[in-house]
Amino acid sequence: MELGVSKVLIIGAGGVGRVVAHKCSRLNDVISDIVLASRTKSRCDEIAAEVKEMTGRTIVTDQVDADDVEATTALLRKHRPQLVINVALPYQDLSIMDACLAAGVHYLDTANYEPPDEAKFEYKWQWAYQDRFREAGLMALLGSGFDPGVTNVFCAYAQKSLFDEIHTIDILDCNAGNHGHPFATNFNPEINIREITQPGRYWERSPDGSGEVAGGEWKTIEPMSMHWDFDFPEVGVHRAYLLYHEELESLCRNIRGVQRIRFWMTFSENYLTHLRVLQNVGMTSIEPVNFEGREIVPIQFLKALLPDPASLAKNYTGKTSIGCLVEGIKDGSKKRVFIYNVCDHEAAYAETRSQAISYTTGVPAVCGAVMMLTQKWKGAGVFNIEQLDPDPFLELLAQQGLPWHVEQR
Ligand code: NDP
Repeated sequence: MELGVSKVLIIGAGGVGRVVAHKCSRLNDVISDIVLASRTKSRCDEIAAEVKEMTGRTIVTDQVDADDVEATTALLRKHRPQLVINVALPYQDLSIMDACLAAGVHYLDTANYEPPDEAKFEYKWQWAYQDRFREAGLMALLGSGFDPGVTNVFCAYAQKSLFDEIHTIDILDCNAGNHGHPFATNFNPEINIREITQPGRYWERSPDGSGEVAGGEWKTIEPMSMHWDFDFPEVGVHRAYLLYHEELESLCRNIRGVQRIRFWMTFSENYLTHLRVLQNVGMTSIEPVNFEGREIVPIQFLKALLPDPASLAKNYTGKTSIGCLVEGIKDGSKKRVFIYNVCDHEAAYAETRSQAISYTTGVPAVCGAVMMLTQKWKGAGVFNIEQLDPDPFLELLAQQGLPWHVEQR
Protein backbone atom coordinates (compact mmCIF):
# COMPACT_ATOMS: atom_id res chain seq x y z
CA MET A 1 0.00 0.00 0.00
CA GLU A 2 1.25 3.46 -0.83
CA LEU A 3 1.25 5.78 2.15
CA GLY A 4 -0.45 9.16 2.02
CA VAL A 5 -2.90 8.27 -0.74
CA SER A 6 -5.09 5.93 1.21
CA LYS A 7 -8.59 5.65 -0.10
CA VAL A 8 -10.98 3.50 1.91
CA LEU A 9 -14.28 2.11 0.79
CA ILE A 10 -16.75 1.45 3.59
CA ILE A 11 -19.50 -1.06 2.75
CA GLY A 12 -22.60 -0.86 4.99
CA ALA A 13 -24.32 2.33 6.12
CA GLY A 14 -25.86 1.06 9.37
CA GLY A 15 -25.01 1.94 12.97
CA VAL A 16 -21.39 0.81 12.67
CA GLY A 17 -20.93 2.28 9.18
CA ARG A 18 -21.91 5.68 10.55
CA VAL A 19 -19.19 5.57 13.24
CA VAL A 20 -16.59 4.36 10.74
CA ALA A 21 -17.48 7.22 8.38
CA HIS A 22 -17.28 9.82 11.16
CA LYS A 23 -13.97 8.52 12.49
CA CYS A 24 -12.34 8.15 9.05
CA SER A 25 -13.32 11.72 8.27
CA ARG A 26 -11.19 12.93 11.19
CA LEU A 27 -8.06 11.08 10.07
CA ASN A 28 -6.90 13.37 7.27
CA ASP A 29 -3.25 12.45 7.75
CA VAL A 30 -3.89 8.76 7.00
CA ILE A 31 -7.06 8.61 4.91
CA SER A 32 -7.17 10.85 1.87
CA ASP A 33 -10.49 9.70 0.37
CA ILE A 34 -13.58 8.02 1.75
CA VAL A 35 -16.29 6.21 -0.20
CA LEU A 36 -19.39 4.90 1.57
CA ALA A 37 -21.51 2.35 -0.30
CA SER A 38 -24.46 0.29 0.85
CA ARG A 39 -27.59 -1.42 -0.40
CA THR A 40 -29.67 1.71 0.25
CA LYS A 41 -27.80 4.75 -1.08
CA SER A 42 -30.03 7.27 0.73
CA ARG A 43 -28.60 6.04 4.05
CA CYS A 44 -25.08 6.73 2.75
CA ASP A 45 -26.13 10.20 1.62
CA GLU A 46 -27.63 10.93 5.03
CA ILE A 47 -24.38 9.95 6.80
CA ALA A 48 -22.26 11.86 4.27
CA ALA A 49 -24.34 15.02 4.85
CA GLU A 50 -24.03 14.64 8.62
CA VAL A 51 -20.24 14.13 8.41
CA LYS A 52 -19.90 17.14 6.10
CA GLU A 53 -21.77 19.27 8.59
CA MET A 54 -19.80 18.05 11.60
CA THR A 55 -16.28 17.74 10.18
CA GLY A 56 -16.32 19.55 6.84
CA ARG A 57 -15.06 16.42 5.11
CA THR A 58 -16.61 15.14 1.85
CA ILE A 59 -17.58 11.47 1.56
CA VAL A 60 -18.40 10.02 -1.86
CA THR A 61 -21.43 7.70 -1.78
CA ASP A 62 -22.51 4.81 -3.96
CA GLN A 63 -24.99 1.95 -4.14
CA VAL A 64 -24.10 -1.75 -4.12
CA ASP A 65 -25.69 -5.08 -3.40
CA ALA A 66 -22.68 -6.71 -1.76
CA ASP A 67 -24.20 -10.18 -2.15
CA ASP A 68 -23.39 -9.75 -5.82
CA VAL A 69 -19.66 -10.38 -6.37
CA GLU A 70 -19.62 -8.90 -9.88
CA ALA A 71 -21.35 -5.70 -8.80
CA THR A 72 -19.02 -5.36 -5.80
CA THR A 73 -15.95 -5.99 -7.96
CA ALA A 74 -17.17 -3.32 -10.39
CA LEU A 75 -17.62 -0.91 -7.45
CA LEU A 76 -14.03 -1.57 -6.31
CA ARG A 77 -12.68 -1.11 -9.84
CA LYS A 78 -14.59 2.15 -10.16
CA HIS A 79 -13.35 3.70 -6.90
CA ARG A 80 -9.96 1.92 -6.64
CA PRO A 81 -9.61 1.98 -2.81
CA GLN A 82 -6.60 0.52 -0.99
CA LEU A 83 -8.86 -1.06 1.62
CA VAL A 84 -12.45 -2.20 2.04
CA ILE A 85 -13.93 -1.78 5.52
CA ASN A 86 -16.80 -4.26 5.50
CA VAL A 87 -19.45 -3.22 8.02
CA ALA A 88 -22.43 -4.65 6.14
CA LEU A 89 -23.80 -7.90 7.57
CA PRO A 90 -21.87 -11.14 8.14
CA TYR A 91 -23.76 -12.68 5.18
CA GLN A 92 -21.75 -10.48 2.78
CA ASP A 93 -18.27 -11.37 4.06
CA LEU A 94 -17.43 -13.99 1.44
CA SER A 95 -18.79 -12.10 -1.56
CA ILE A 96 -16.86 -8.98 -0.49
CA MET A 97 -13.69 -11.05 0.03
CA ASP A 98 -14.16 -12.50 -3.48
CA ALA A 99 -14.53 -9.00 -4.90
CA CYS A 100 -11.38 -7.85 -3.05
CA LEU A 101 -9.44 -10.71 -4.59
CA ALA A 102 -10.80 -9.92 -8.06
CA ALA A 103 -9.98 -6.19 -7.77
CA GLY A 104 -6.74 -6.49 -5.73
CA VAL A 105 -7.93 -4.66 -2.60
CA HIS A 106 -7.14 -5.31 1.09
CA TYR A 107 -10.06 -6.36 3.32
CA LEU A 108 -11.21 -5.78 6.93
CA ASP A 109 -14.40 -6.80 8.76
CA THR A 110 -15.90 -6.93 12.26
CA ALA A 111 -17.95 -10.14 12.23
CA ASN A 112 -17.35 -13.57 10.80
CA TYR A 113 -19.28 -15.13 7.96
CA GLU A 114 -22.60 -16.72 8.69
CA PRO A 115 -24.71 -18.47 6.04
CA PRO A 116 -28.13 -16.77 5.85
CA ASP A 117 -30.03 -20.08 6.01
CA GLU A 118 -28.17 -21.58 8.97
CA ALA A 119 -27.62 -19.83 12.32
CA LYS A 120 -24.02 -20.92 12.58
CA PHE A 121 -21.05 -18.61 12.47
CA GLU A 122 -17.63 -20.13 12.07
CA TYR A 123 -14.31 -18.94 10.73
CA LYS A 124 -13.81 -21.97 8.51
CA TRP A 125 -15.32 -20.26 5.46
CA GLN A 126 -13.08 -17.21 5.77
CA TRP A 127 -9.98 -19.15 6.82
CA ALA A 128 -10.41 -21.07 3.55
CA TYR A 129 -9.37 -17.83 1.76
CA GLN A 130 -5.88 -17.97 3.32
CA ASP A 131 -4.01 -19.22 0.24
CA ARG A 132 -5.85 -16.96 -2.19
CA PHE A 133 -5.10 -13.80 -0.18
CA ARG A 134 -1.50 -14.89 0.39
CA GLU A 135 -0.93 -15.60 -3.28
CA ALA A 136 -2.51 -12.28 -4.26
CA GLY A 137 -0.25 -10.44 -1.78
CA LEU A 138 -3.35 -9.06 -0.03
CA MET A 139 -4.23 -8.81 3.65
CA ALA A 140 -7.60 -9.72 5.13
CA LEU A 141 -8.07 -8.67 8.75
CA LEU A 142 -10.95 -10.54 10.41
CA GLY A 143 -12.95 -9.38 13.42
CA SER A 144 -11.72 -5.82 14.03
CA GLY A 145 -14.70 -4.71 16.14
CA PHE A 146 -14.97 -4.81 19.93
CA ASP A 147 -15.90 -8.41 20.55
CA PRO A 148 -14.46 -9.87 18.42
CA GLY A 149 -11.76 -7.30 18.03
CA VAL A 150 -10.57 -5.34 21.04
CA THR A 151 -11.20 -8.36 23.30
CA ASN A 152 -8.85 -10.43 21.13
CA VAL A 153 -6.25 -7.65 21.25
CA PHE A 154 -6.56 -7.51 25.06
CA CYS A 155 -5.76 -11.26 25.10
CA ALA A 156 -2.79 -10.75 22.78
CA TYR A 157 -1.57 -7.94 25.05
CA ALA A 158 -1.99 -10.14 28.16
CA GLN A 159 0.08 -12.80 26.42
CA LYS A 160 2.76 -10.39 25.26
CA SER A 161 3.15 -8.14 28.31
CA LEU A 162 1.27 -9.29 31.40
CA PHE A 163 1.68 -13.07 31.78
CA ASP A 164 4.24 -15.85 31.40
CA GLU A 165 1.42 -18.40 31.20
CA ILE A 166 -2.28 -17.79 30.56
CA HIS A 167 -4.63 -20.39 32.08
CA THR A 168 -8.16 -19.05 31.62
CA ILE A 169 -9.88 -16.21 29.78
CA ASP A 170 -13.41 -14.98 30.45
CA ILE A 171 -14.67 -12.27 28.13
CA LEU A 172 -17.39 -10.25 29.86
CA ASP A 173 -19.66 -7.84 27.98
CA CYS A 174 -22.05 -5.54 29.81
CA ASN A 175 -24.27 -2.89 28.29
CA ALA A 176 -25.63 -1.05 31.31
CA GLY A 177 -27.25 1.59 29.12
CA ASN A 178 -30.92 2.48 28.80
CA HIS A 179 -32.58 3.29 25.45
CA GLY A 180 -36.05 3.80 26.87
CA HIS A 181 -37.82 1.17 24.69
CA PRO A 182 -39.54 -1.90 26.19
CA PHE A 183 -37.55 -4.16 23.82
CA ALA A 184 -34.91 -3.39 21.22
CA THR A 185 -31.59 -4.83 20.10
CA ASN A 186 -28.44 -2.74 20.00
CA PHE A 187 -27.22 -3.96 16.66
CA ASN A 188 -28.87 -5.74 13.78
CA PRO A 189 -31.76 -7.60 15.50
CA GLU A 190 -31.51 -10.62 13.23
CA ILE A 191 -27.81 -11.13 13.94
CA ASN A 192 -28.24 -10.35 17.64
CA ILE A 193 -31.16 -12.71 18.25
CA ARG A 194 -29.63 -15.51 16.19
CA GLU A 195 -26.51 -15.21 18.35
CA ILE A 196 -28.21 -15.43 21.72
CA THR A 197 -30.84 -18.07 20.99
CA GLN A 198 -28.20 -20.64 20.10
CA PRO A 199 -26.88 -23.18 22.65
CA GLY A 200 -24.05 -21.76 24.80
CA ARG A 201 -20.59 -23.13 24.07
CA TYR A 202 -17.16 -22.68 25.55
CA TRP A 203 -13.79 -24.22 24.87
CA GLU A 204 -11.72 -26.28 27.29
CA ARG A 205 -8.40 -28.03 26.78
CA SER A 206 -8.59 -31.82 27.22
CA PRO A 207 -6.60 -33.03 30.25
CA ASP A 208 -4.06 -34.73 27.95
CA GLY A 209 -4.26 -32.00 25.28
CA SER A 210 -5.54 -34.45 22.68
CA GLY A 211 -8.90 -32.79 21.89
CA GLU A 212 -9.81 -32.23 18.26
CA VAL A 213 -10.09 -28.43 18.45
CA ALA A 214 -6.66 -26.94 19.25
CA GLY A 215 -6.05 -29.74 21.76
CA GLY A 216 -9.40 -29.22 23.47
CA GLU A 217 -13.09 -29.42 22.79
CA TRP A 218 -16.31 -27.45 22.79
CA LYS A 219 -18.61 -27.89 25.78
CA THR A 220 -22.23 -27.21 24.87
CA ILE A 221 -24.94 -26.04 27.27
CA GLU A 222 -28.62 -25.08 26.90
CA PRO A 223 -29.10 -21.46 25.75
CA MET A 224 -28.74 -19.01 28.67
CA SER A 225 -28.41 -21.83 31.22
CA MET A 226 -25.20 -20.63 32.93
CA HIS A 227 -24.81 -17.22 34.53
CA TRP A 228 -22.41 -15.22 36.65
CA ASP A 229 -22.96 -12.05 38.70
CA PHE A 230 -19.91 -10.01 37.83
CA ASP A 231 -18.82 -6.65 39.23
CA PHE A 232 -18.16 -4.56 36.10
CA PRO A 233 -15.97 -1.44 36.39
CA GLU A 234 -18.04 1.77 36.66
CA VAL A 235 -21.41 0.03 36.18
CA GLY A 236 -21.47 -2.44 39.11
CA VAL A 237 -22.81 -5.97 39.45
CA HIS A 238 -24.77 -7.37 36.52
CA ARG A 239 -25.85 -10.90 35.63
CA ALA A 240 -23.93 -12.22 32.65
CA TYR A 241 -24.94 -15.32 30.67
CA LEU A 242 -22.62 -17.73 28.94
CA LEU A 243 -22.92 -17.52 25.14
CA TYR A 244 -20.96 -18.86 22.24
CA HIS A 245 -19.08 -16.02 20.60
CA GLU A 246 -16.92 -16.12 17.53
CA GLU A 247 -13.64 -14.94 19.04
CA LEU A 248 -13.41 -18.15 21.10
CA GLU A 249 -12.72 -20.08 17.92
CA SER A 250 -9.58 -18.18 17.01
CA LEU A 251 -8.36 -17.38 20.54
CA CYS A 252 -8.22 -21.05 21.58
CA ARG A 253 -5.78 -21.53 18.70
CA ASN A 254 -3.75 -18.35 19.07
CA ILE A 255 -3.28 -17.89 22.85
CA ARG A 256 -0.53 -20.30 23.82
CA GLY A 257 -1.29 -22.83 26.54
CA VAL A 258 -4.72 -21.45 27.47
CA GLN A 259 -6.86 -24.03 29.29
CA ARG A 260 -10.36 -22.56 29.00
CA ILE A 261 -12.07 -19.67 27.23
CA ARG A 262 -15.62 -18.51 27.85
CA PHE A 263 -17.77 -15.54 26.80
CA TRP A 264 -20.46 -13.86 28.91
CA MET A 265 -22.97 -11.16 28.08
CA THR A 266 -25.38 -9.36 30.44
CA PHE A 267 -29.12 -9.22 29.81
CA SER A 268 -31.83 -7.68 31.95
CA GLU A 269 -34.77 -9.78 33.17
CA ASN A 270 -37.02 -7.60 31.01
CA TYR A 271 -35.01 -8.37 27.86
CA LEU A 272 -34.98 -12.08 28.57
CA THR A 273 -38.74 -12.18 29.21
CA HIS A 274 -39.48 -10.48 25.88
CA LEU A 275 -37.09 -12.81 24.11
CA ARG A 276 -38.64 -15.89 25.73
CA VAL A 277 -42.12 -14.88 24.58
CA LEU A 278 -40.94 -14.09 21.04
CA GLN A 279 -39.20 -17.45 20.88
CA ASN A 280 -42.20 -19.33 22.25
CA VAL A 281 -44.47 -17.91 19.58
CA GLY A 282 -41.95 -18.62 16.80
CA MET A 283 -41.00 -15.01 16.02
CA THR A 284 -37.26 -15.65 16.27
CA SER A 285 -37.28 -18.51 13.76
CA ILE A 286 -35.21 -18.32 10.57
CA GLU A 287 -37.45 -20.91 8.85
CA PRO A 288 -39.69 -19.25 6.23
CA VAL A 289 -43.46 -19.51 6.84
CA ASN A 290 -46.24 -19.04 4.34
CA PHE A 291 -48.43 -16.06 5.22
CA GLU A 292 -51.34 -15.24 2.93
CA GLY A 293 -49.57 -16.69 -0.09
CA ARG A 294 -46.21 -15.04 0.69
CA GLU A 295 -43.13 -16.53 2.26
CA ILE A 296 -41.85 -14.60 5.24
CA VAL A 297 -38.98 -15.31 7.60
CA PRO A 298 -40.30 -14.59 11.12
CA ILE A 299 -37.07 -13.07 12.46
CA GLN A 300 -36.86 -10.74 9.43
CA PHE A 301 -40.44 -9.64 10.04
CA LEU A 302 -39.58 -9.06 13.70
CA LYS A 303 -36.62 -6.92 12.59
CA ALA A 304 -39.03 -4.75 10.62
CA LEU A 305 -41.12 -4.19 13.77
CA LEU A 306 -38.27 -3.43 16.18
CA PRO A 307 -36.64 0.00 16.43
CA ASP A 308 -33.77 0.52 14.02
CA PRO A 309 -30.67 0.16 16.26
CA ALA A 310 -29.34 3.46 14.89
CA SER A 311 -32.49 5.24 16.06
CA LEU A 312 -31.78 4.27 19.69
CA ALA A 313 -28.70 6.46 19.79
CA LYS A 314 -30.28 9.83 20.45
CA ASN A 315 -31.81 9.06 23.84
CA TYR A 316 -29.42 6.37 25.04
CA THR A 317 -27.96 6.94 28.51
CA GLY A 318 -25.51 4.92 30.61
CA LYS A 319 -22.37 2.99 29.74
CA THR A 320 -20.95 -0.21 28.32
CA SER A 321 -18.22 -2.01 30.28
CA ILE A 322 -16.50 -4.81 28.38
CA GLY A 323 -13.29 -6.67 29.05
CA CYS A 324 -11.26 -9.83 29.51
CA LEU A 325 -10.69 -11.48 32.86
CA VAL A 326 -7.40 -13.29 32.44
CA GLU A 327 -5.83 -15.69 34.94
CA GLY A 328 -2.40 -17.20 34.84
CA ILE A 329 1.15 -16.97 36.11
CA LYS A 330 3.63 -14.09 36.12
CA ASP A 331 7.13 -14.44 37.63
CA GLY A 332 6.11 -17.65 39.39
CA SER A 333 3.01 -16.16 41.09
CA LYS A 334 -0.68 -16.43 40.33
CA LYS A 335 -2.15 -13.35 38.67
CA ARG A 336 -5.67 -12.31 37.72
CA VAL A 337 -6.48 -9.11 35.82
CA PHE A 338 -9.46 -7.52 34.12
CA ILE A 339 -8.52 -5.56 30.99
CA TYR A 340 -11.44 -3.39 29.98
CA ASN A 341 -12.95 -0.33 28.38
CA VAL A 342 -15.95 1.69 29.54
CA CYS A 343 -17.83 3.66 26.89
CA ASP A 344 -20.54 6.25 27.51
CA HIS A 345 -23.58 6.23 25.21
CA GLU A 346 -24.14 9.98 25.42
CA ALA A 347 -20.49 10.81 24.69
CA ALA A 348 -20.58 8.45 21.68
CA TYR A 349 -23.69 10.25 20.41
CA ALA A 350 -22.21 13.69 20.86
CA GLU A 351 -19.20 12.73 18.75
CA THR A 352 -20.67 10.45 16.07
CA ARG A 353 -24.50 10.48 16.42
CA SER A 354 -24.29 6.80 17.42
CA GLN A 355 -24.82 4.71 20.54
CA ALA A 356 -21.93 3.03 22.34
CA ILE A 357 -22.42 -0.43 20.80
CA SER A 358 -21.93 0.95 17.29
CA TYR A 359 -19.16 3.24 18.59
CA THR A 360 -17.21 0.45 20.30
CA THR A 361 -17.39 -1.55 17.05
CA GLY A 362 -16.68 1.24 14.58
CA VAL A 363 -13.69 2.76 16.40
CA PRO A 364 -11.67 -0.51 16.45
CA ALA A 365 -12.57 -1.08 12.78
CA VAL A 366 -11.00 2.28 11.98
CA CYS A 367 -7.99 1.54 14.23
CA GLY A 368 -7.48 -1.77 12.37
CA ALA A 369 -7.75 0.12 9.08
CA VAL A 370 -5.11 2.64 10.22
CA MET A 371 -2.80 -0.22 11.27
CA MET A 372 -3.09 -1.63 7.75
CA LEU A 373 -2.87 1.67 5.87
CA THR A 374 0.23 2.78 7.80
CA GLN A 375 1.68 -0.73 7.46
CA LYS A 376 2.13 -1.13 11.20
CA TRP A 377 0.30 -4.33 10.46
CA LYS A 378 1.18 -5.95 7.20
CA GLY A 379 1.24 -9.38 5.68
CA ALA A 380 -0.35 -11.43 2.96
CA GLY A 381 -3.12 -13.80 3.92
CA VAL A 382 -6.06 -13.97 6.31
CA PHE A 383 -5.39 -12.81 9.89
CA ASN A 384 -7.35 -12.88 13.10
CA ILE A 385 -6.60 -9.69 14.96
CA GLU A 386 -4.82 -11.31 17.94
CA GLN A 387 -2.12 -12.60 15.57
CA LEU A 388 -0.83 -9.03 15.13
CA ASP A 389 1.18 -6.80 17.49
CA PRO A 390 -1.30 -5.43 20.08
CA ASP A 391 0.78 -2.40 21.15
CA PRO A 392 0.29 0.11 18.29
CA PHE A 393 -3.39 -0.80 18.01
CA LEU A 394 -4.03 -0.27 21.74
CA GLU A 395 -2.18 3.03 21.72
CA LEU A 396 -4.34 4.29 18.85
CA LEU A 397 -7.53 2.86 20.36
CA ALA A 398 -7.10 5.00 23.48
CA GLN A 399 -6.40 8.09 21.36
CA GLN A 400 -9.46 7.43 19.22
CA GLY A 401 -11.95 7.43 22.09
CA LEU A 402 -11.73 3.99 23.71
CA PRO A 403 -9.31 4.24 26.63
CA TRP A 404 -8.56 0.90 28.27
CA HIS A 405 -7.38 -0.13 31.73
CA VAL A 406 -5.88 -3.08 33.55
CA GLU A 407 -7.26 -3.86 37.01
CA GLN A 408 -5.87 -6.50 39.40
CA ARG A 409 -8.70 -8.82 40.55
P1 NDP B 1 -27.01 -2.51 10.61
O1 NDP B 1 -28.10 -3.49 10.33
O2 NDP B 1 -27.30 -1.24 11.34
O3 NDP B 1 -26.33 -2.08 9.22
C1 NDP B 1 -25.98 -2.99 8.23
C2 NDP B 1 -25.80 -2.21 6.94
O4 NDP B 1 -25.39 -3.14 5.92
C3 NDP B 1 -27.09 -1.55 6.44
O5 NDP B 1 -26.77 -0.26 5.99
C4 NDP B 1 -27.51 -2.45 5.30
O6 NDP B 1 -28.17 -1.81 4.24
C5 NDP B 1 -26.18 -2.91 4.78
N1 NDP B 1 -26.36 -4.12 3.99
C6 NDP B 1 -27.05 -5.23 4.32
N2 NDP B 1 -27.04 -6.10 3.32
C7 NDP B 1 -26.33 -5.53 2.32
C8 NDP B 1 -25.97 -5.92 1.02
N3 NDP B 1 -26.35 -7.10 0.52
N4 NDP B 1 -25.23 -5.07 0.28
C9 NDP B 1 -24.84 -3.87 0.76
N5 NDP B 1 -25.15 -3.44 1.99
C10 NDP B 1 -25.89 -4.26 2.76
O7 NDP B 1 -25.84 -3.31 11.35
P2 NDP B 1 -24.70 -2.72 12.29
O8 NDP B 1 -24.15 -1.49 11.69
O9 NDP B 1 -25.18 -2.73 13.68
O10 NDP B 1 -23.59 -3.89 12.17
C11 NDP B 1 -22.69 -3.94 11.08
C12 NDP B 1 -21.77 -5.13 11.24
O11 NDP B 1 -21.04 -5.02 12.46
C13 NDP B 1 -22.49 -6.48 11.31
O12 NDP B 1 -21.74 -7.42 10.58
C14 NDP B 1 -22.44 -6.83 12.78
O13 NDP B 1 -22.49 -8.22 12.98
C15 NDP B 1 -21.10 -6.25 13.14
N6 NDP B 1 -20.96 -5.98 14.59
C16 NDP B 1 -19.80 -6.38 15.20
C17 NDP B 1 -19.61 -6.15 16.54
C18 NDP B 1 -18.30 -6.47 17.17
O14 NDP B 1 -18.06 -6.04 18.30
N7 NDP B 1 -17.39 -7.19 16.53
C19 NDP B 1 -20.67 -5.55 17.37
C20 NDP B 1 -21.80 -5.06 16.62
C21 NDP B 1 -21.94 -5.31 15.27
P3 NDP B 1 -29.73 -1.36 4.30
O15 NDP B 1 -29.66 0.01 4.90
O16 NDP B 1 -30.19 -1.37 2.90
O17 NDP B 1 -30.44 -2.37 5.18
